[in-house]
Amino acid sequence: AAEEGFDLEDVEGAIEEAGHGPLPVLAVVGRPNVGKSTLVNRIIGRREAVVEDKPGVTRDRVTYEAEWAGRRFKVVDTGGWEQDVLGIDASVAAQAEYAIEAADAVVFVVDAKVGATDTDEAVVRLLRKAGKPVVLCANKVDGPSGEADASYLWSLGLGEPHPVSALHGRGTGDMLDAVLEALPEAPEQTFGTAVGGPRRIALIGRPNVGKSSLLNKVAGEERVVVNEIAGTTRDPVDELIELGGVTWKFVDTAGIRKRVHLQQGADYYASLRTAAAVEKAEVAVILIDASESISVQDQRIVTMAVEAGRAMVIAYNKWDTLDEERRYYLEREIETEFGQVAWAPRVNVSARTGRHMEKLVPAIETALAGWETRVPTGRLNAFLGELVSAHPHPIRGGKQPRILFGTQAGTKPPRFVLFASGFIEAGYRRFIERRLREEFGFEGTPIHISVRVRE
Ligand code: GDP
Ligand code: GDP
Repeated sequence: AAEEGFDLEDVEGAIEEAGHGPLPVLAVVGRPNVGKSTLVNRIIGRREAVVEDKPGVTRDRVTYEAEWAGRRFKVVDTGGWEQDVLGIDASVAAQAEYAIEAADAVVFVVDAKVGATDTDEAVVRLLRKAGKPVVLCANKVDGPSGEADASYLWSLGLGEPHPVSALHGRGTGDMLDAVLEALPEAPEQTFGTAVGGPRRIALIGRPNVGKSSLLNKVAGEERVVVNEIAGTTRDPVDELIELGGVTWKFVDTAGIRKRVHLQQGADYYASLRTAAAVEKAEVAVILIDASESISVQDQRIVTMAVEAGRAMVIAYNKWDTLDEERRYYLEREIETEFGQVAWAPRVNVSARTGRHMEKLVPAIETALAGWETRVPTGRLNAFLGELVSAHPHPIRGGKQPRILFGTQAGTKPPRFVLFASGFIEAGYRRFIERRLREEFGFEGTPIHISVRVRE
């Protein structure tokens, strides 16, 4: 590294940064109008992201990346879903519950000017049951005179209320310091159980693609229900299912079975559930209804899994209904709509007839193997050296930027850091990704490539 003009410490820092696992997840929960969305905007440092959604308007995006004091984490925003037909208590509790389930820590927002309401108390009970670390945010404390209001919230029994004005930024720094203390360095749920425990699968897809049919087909009588939350009326969350002689954990299956007939906000609710399941899983099996055109919603679900860095399998369901014409158009659609994820193993199944169910497990295993692949540094650099001399970067402004060396900083999914002598264009980066895949496989997994340029 030194002779290539890179400082050894910079190199080590870059590798460490690129190698971090999945980010810890923070959920922001609370009643409507307490200022959750305002606070999320404050935390992620962007305005346009969340605020000014009209109630009931579909908003698929529920997780955002944030950084405070050099640490990065994800924020799950539950502010986009207004009250629904179930009545306000139930709806707040339900959405909070999903968000809390997927989170490593929770910010509970209360309107200090209003004080603790019955709905707030209901959320507190959920928080107690979930046992996740909680930071209590006493919001709308816009000036010193509001601090007394905040101190009343000690009565909630969640520890110190942090007086905050999400609107003006007052107190948010201290609150975020508390958040960092509450968040684990790396999310324990993702890697804590990886050794020896069952692998975690999220079966996801838009409504009516056949998730529940598929689950019933593969599970048969074998299912074992785990993770029941005592004292709630909710369905169980995760199920252990034996497939191909191996036990798998299907996460958040309650979301698949449960038929809550929501009107307003139902799409948002589904997105929140999908995001929560993906966060908890190692591999996402994305179910597509092959009898219908691939939709924007299908694409959003694929994007969600890719952005979360999960291994991925795409299963085209309802294959029994396809005629020759539909099969022809489906192939065209897959090429145009899913070209970016051509690396994902594909299975054509029918939950109704059981067609190709036996191909599901090998596809999942392939994807997980790709997700965990590690390329030794020597092999990687031999490959990079050949690639760079056979296909140099185009000359720009009389200079030719070169990839000097690289290393794989992490797995799950594979992450690479490349060190270069100048700016590497997006097209060349994509070329490198393509060649890496050709050379090393990485079937079923997104890969991350970051490039460091010598100063
Ligand atoms: P959510 O429904 O919990 O997401 O709440 P919003 O973020 O949409 O905020 C509800 C209302 O409270 C909006 O009119 C905000 O401008 C206002 N609000 C949010 N935070 C503060 C604050 O710190 N101080 C004051 N005075 N108003 C706030
Ligand atoms: P979910 O909302 O994704 O859980 O979808 P469901 O499992 O409830 O299925 C929606 C509808 O599609 C139901 O009427 C199922 O019977 C039907 N369905 C599911 N899988 C198949 C399949 O492979 N072939 C056919 N023909 N219908 C299916």
